[in-house]
Amino acid sequence: MRTQRQVVDYSLQKRAVLRDVHNGRVGTLEVCDASPYLKNAARFHGESTDERCPVCRQDNLTLVHYIYGDELKQSAGQARKLAELPVLAMTLREFQVFVVEVCRSCAWNHLAQQYVLGRDALTADELDQVEAVASAAAGRHRETGLSSQRREGRR
Ligand SMILES: [Zn+2]
Repeated sequence: MRTQRQVVDYSLQKRAVLRDVHNGRVGTLEVCDASPYLKNAARFHGESTDERCPVCRQDNLTLVHYIYGDELKQSAGQARKLAELPVLAMTLREFQVFVVEVCRSCAWNHLAQQYVLGRDALTADELDQVEAVASAAAGRHRETGLSSQRREGRR
């Protein structure tokens, strides 16, 4: 998403963990410990990827997006489908997204990325577009601004 900001990427940490696993310094049981909640979130809200699990290579990784922020109230900490995030980003000023990768075969899981979304991240032009889309969706001002101005002038 174009409006992502304060993006933190955890691929370096992930590589370090995987190195330890492949060296045998860390057991797979220690890193393949996805909770039943995380596995369920992956199943119902996860985004499947083309990337093979780096541990078991049996299954592709699934990305789970968790949302956090004061404005979310009781929804804070919930997993959401990726497609729901742009809608939230239009309505909320700011919220955090934590992306966790999970293997549904071996339960490998790792924080992949975190970032901030929300209206505060939009430029003035993008806000105009969002509002145009929102008002069109609401059935108002279907015409362009130009034609409605012309109509006003005729009155
Ligand atoms: Zn796996």
